[in-house]
Amino acid sequence: MIVDLRSDTVTRPSPEMLDQMMQAPVGDDVFSEDPTIIRLEEKIATLFGMEAGLFCPSGTMANQIAIRAHTGRLNEIICHELSHIYNYENGGYAFNAGVSIRLVRGERGKMSCEEIESLIQPDHDWLPKTTLLSVENTCNKGGGSVLTIEEMRSISECGRKHGLKTHLDGARIFNALITLNEQPSSIHEMFDSISICFSKGLGAPVGSAIVGSRSFIANCRKHRKVMGGGMRQAGILAAACIYALDNNVERLKLDHSAAQRLAEVISAQDYAENVLPVDTNILIFDLKKFTANEFLQKIDHEGIKAVAFGPKTIRLVTHLDFTDEMLNYVIEKLKNLSRQ
Ligand SMILES: *Cc1c(COP(=O)(O)O)cnc(C)c1O
Repeated sequence: MIVDLRSDTVTRPSPEMLDQMMQAPVGDDVFSEDPTIIRLEEKIATLFGMEAGLFCPSGTMANQIAIRAHTGRLNEIICHELSHIYNYENGGYAFNAGVSIRLVRGERGKMSCEEIESLIQPDHDWLPKTTLLSVENTCNKGGGSVLTIEEMRSISECGRKHGLKTHLDGARIFNALITLNEQPSSIHEMFDSISICFSKGLGAPVGSAIVGSRSFIANCRKHRKVMGGGMRQAGILAAACIYALDNNVERLKLDHSAAQRLAEVISAQDYAENVLPVDTNILIFDLKKFTANEFLQKIDHEGIKAVAFGPKTIRLVTHLDFTDEMLNYVIEKLKNLSRQ
């Protein structure tokens, strides 16, 4: 058996999803003529209580477009030190937008207003102007940790009080909303833009979106084009995203309980320590007996794949294609490793 727990991006489209893709009406989206993309953009914007949406090829591009559209040269952004835009987008904030960055520290993606305020630059000729506050929920590197509605609201109010624009990297916002038992519309007033991935827990093969005001999204369309993200008959992809929104949101609960179960088992093994609390579908823990590479090799022999998140740190991510049978198999193998 092969069990891939490297990421929730490894899922494959189901026959039902493929069927919906095959039937999608399409057109040239650079001319705004793809009816399925238009439907997806309207659907995701309405869900989040925003005026407009933009379909993008990846979550990274969605974040990069949003950063560029919100900022300019001589600007600086504030985000958490664990955030994806800082760690995993090739320094795109500097490369694409030409801005610098200042980092909030805090447990598992939490951001205090006090610290945000301490990072906002005073007005001097030799200091960049702080213009954007970017928040991540769930926080990937925080172990899929969730910021509550109240936490998001207080971060956003803090930024706005100082005239900052607010962006939410919501690649896994549906995982957070399921854990919080909240609707997407509950957060719309807090952020000027939100990026959302359909190809993570929701199981679409490709696709992300940005939502925001009509004028902001119009500006984002230009940035998407110059980054090479203007696609043509991509309605076949948008159809998969619509299918994912209609069918794969509620079931994220199952991924969360599977991750909980894995965390219980891992916590009881003599080779593991510092198992981060599991809020959603991500499980991060440290190793005692082995290095991360040794551990990955051992589980690879059993057909199980994970990723290293540090020299002694492992990340496992549950998803749509991770069956109960696979869960039981992985649990048995993880227990066996203690006996070696
Ligand atoms: C995965 C992810 C993204 C986007 O990644 P892509 O692989 O480019 O789709 C952005 N932010 C967070 C927090 C993520 O986990």
